[in-house]
Amino acid sequence: MTDGPATDEAHLTSAHDRWVDRDAAVVWHGFTQMSCYAENQPVIVESAEGHELIDVDGRRYLDAISSLWVTTLGHRVPELDQAVREQLDRVAHTTLLGNGNRATIELAEALAPRVPVSEPHFLFASDGAAAVEQALKIAFQYWANQGVAGRTRYLALGGAYHGDTVGGISLGAGGFGTDVFDPLRFGVLRAPGYDDPGWADTAVSLITAHADELAAVVLEPLVQGAAGMWVTDPDSVERVGDACREHGVLLVADEVATGFGRTGTLFASEQCRLRPDLMCIGKGLTGGYLPMAATVATRRVYRAFLGPDLSEKTFYHGHSFSGNALAAAVARRHLQLLDEWDVLANVRERAAQLGLLLEKFAGERSGVVAEVRRRGLMTGVELAPPSDGLRWGRLVCAAAVRRGVLLRPLGDVVVLMPLLSSTPAEIERIVEVLGEAVDEVCGT
Ligand SMILES: *Cc1c(COP(=O)(O)O)cnc(C)c1O
Repeated sequence: MTDGPATDEAHLTSAHDRWVDRDAAVVWHGFTQMSCYAENQPVIVESAEGHELIDVDGRRYLDAISSLWVTTLGHRVPELDQAVREQLDRVAHTTLLGNGNRATIELAEALAPRVPVSEPHFLFASDGAAAVEQALKIAFQYWANQGVAGRTRYLALGGAYHGDTVGGISLGAGGFGTDVFDPLRFGVLRAPGYDDPGWADTAVSLITAHADELAAVVLEPLVQGAAGMWVTDPDSVERVGDACREHGVLLVADEVATGFGRTGTLFASEQCRLRPDLMCIGKGLTGGYLPMAATVATRRVYRAFLGPDLSEKTFYHGHSFSGNALAAAVARRHLQLLDEWDVLANVRERAAQLGLLLEKFAGERSGVVAEVRRRGLMTGVELAPPSDGLRWGRLVCAAAVRRGVLLRPLGDVVVLMPLLSSTPAEIERIVEVLGEAVDEVCGT
């Protein structure tokens, strides 16, 4: 074997193939057809440095999907590593059911003035889907606790994605091959998604017509991520928020993807002048370090659950790892770093740069690029394959991975989710490599 870039032959004898075999023998990967797992050339990460992942053969990949939208400031950030280490010297985890933990209290205190939720209380969980599930149950019981009958339904949007629990997929718009679960889904009122310019008008009419039946409206402010980065304008979201307020319907903002700076503000709700009754956070909460999510409730919602000890007004729901101390410690340090490093300013600058570069990129490839959609650094580049079944999204991302930029598509939408701390050179590289990959696969 000679020096230089790995050839196909070298690849066959690489550590990569042995790890993929071991992987496929015992690990079942989510959203992945395991019969094609090896063939699709998965990256097997061994370590990371800053904005790059390093695989078992020592190859490096720029993390241009923020490890599926969770990582914010990169990997092995010394300050975040230190926060975990310091908390390890105190305690890793204790229960939040009926008891407290200093690290969790300090995190909630730090978050309270930053969330767009009035006088908030935080109910912690481990995954975004669990935070959504908690919000659904809180909204339902909120009305029951006050003796209001009939407010038992939810309004959700076309294209919605709120996680993979049965509650989450009921709110969700289906697709992704999840239609098999239709018999398990409970029905919701469905307004159109952000791909329909009239979505907010329809949502407002539905809220007006069905207010007495609605427990809550659930939406992803500004960007419907998993739908394929469908975007809307802040005014439309605000109008739907106003309709909720007017008709006394609770508003749940699912900021699991949009939260913690992705769209240029700490929360997308801020741009939409939204004050949700319940907000779901997850993904970037710990900077992508540890699984932590939370349902944030206003004082009004929280107070509806107060009553005598052991009474039925209590919210009988809680997860074993709720408020995990290691996660809380790193989440609190992460929030400080967002300020100390003025990360949101970088997001806005890099987003503007990305917008300009993608305009040029798409202009030069108008035949194969259908649309570029973006809010802040959350970006979808929709390809326009001439016929079905070409798997352009998959192939373009694979071509980018071969060039050392990690991408993963949603169908034929190539998702770009650069780290919040991306440098100008990294943004340039992502668009350059995307261009090369599109040209290779789509023959432009
Ligand atoms: C990712 C996501 C979820 C689910 O979060 P998990 O941590 O994957 O369970 C929920 N809502 C939105 C908007 C998401 O993007």
